Amino acid sequence: MIRKLFAKPGVPWLLLAVSLVVILALVFIRGSAPAPQTTKPAAAAQPAAPQAAAPALAAVPEGEWEAVTVSLKHTPSQDFGDASVDGDLVSAEWARLFVWDVDLRRQLNPGDVMRAGWHWTDEAELEIGVATLKVNKLGKTFRAYRFLAPGDKYPSYWNEQGAEVARRLNDSPIEDYEQVTSLLKDRPTHKGMDFKTDVGTEVNCPKAGVVLRSNWNWSANGNCIEVQFEDGTIAKFLHLSENRVKVGDKLTAGQIIALSGNTGHSTGAHLHYQLNTADGRVIDPIDYHGTTQRQLDAGSLASFQATVQKFDALLDNPPKPAAPAVEPVAAIVVPVAKR
Ligand SMILES: [Zn+2]
Repeated sequence: MIRKLFAKPGVPWLLLAVSLVVILALVFIRGSAPAPQTTKPAAAAQPAAPQAAAPALAAVPEGEWEAVTVSLKHTPSQDFGDASVDGDLVSAEWARLFVWDVDLRRQLNPGDVMRAGWHWTDEAELEIGVATLKVNKLGKTFRAYRFLAPGDKYPSYWNEQGAEVARRLNDSPIEDYEQVTSLLKDRPTHKGMDFKTDVGTEVNCPKAGVVLRSNWNWSANGNCIEVQFEDGTIAKFLHLSENRVKVGDKLTAGQIIALSGNTGHSTGAHLHYQLNTADGRVIDPIDYHGTTQRQLDAGSLASFQATVQKFDALLDNPPKPAAPAVEPVAAIVVPVAKR
């Protein structure tokens, strides 16, 4: 067969020419692939390329961003405090993102690396866009990027793989909330789980039960409801804006019982959800209900990755802390030269 081919004049040459073209094409494709990034993208002054940056820019909240990288020496709050005037608040927000994966009291050691990028919202709230924690003892870096998942009411934080940092309660008493701001294992003196959410968010009863009490101890609890589930567990819902059930009502699982609020002794709109055994022992809702970790769907991963790149660039090229204002957002959205 081969002999026959080579017997025909021209065929070997044709094969040779074809393979040469293939080799040249391969070399060319390789050469034009993005080279591993060895240089840092040019900082600040350069405006982002309008075409490439436009969709990504929309995902970053408006405002001026700051970023710090801190090596742990004392405590997160002290070290962030030394690094920035916003340190105390940064530290509090930062810590909330890692309590799900790290025991911040026991597992941190000097030399662990903490990073955060944040800005102040129009409502004068400090908002973290990105936070990371490298725990040397665990040989692991945890990351959290702020991103609004399609269909969600509030942005949440997701790791670089698109898994949500905070776990969600199975049978949660509330679906739409911004963040769990207090966990039992994080703050054992506080007996419930706090969900930060706008006043007027629907609250449901996670399990079937009976309403035992309503609006007791108003100055502390505000509008409140107490329900006994069928297994005897007692659930308390505090600081409500509106109760929709009354004492003696039989409830089905998932039934809307109230709207969340900011009544009683409460410093911000949230739902306080607390579980007790019938004899008064506190139960952690995480243990009782169990949790799931959500994952961004394939359709939103591309825009999430764009967000990740921009926030990583912010951490690597923090705007000068002294510069007092006026640079437009575009200036700190460093084009991540990858094409
Ligand atoms: Zn609470």
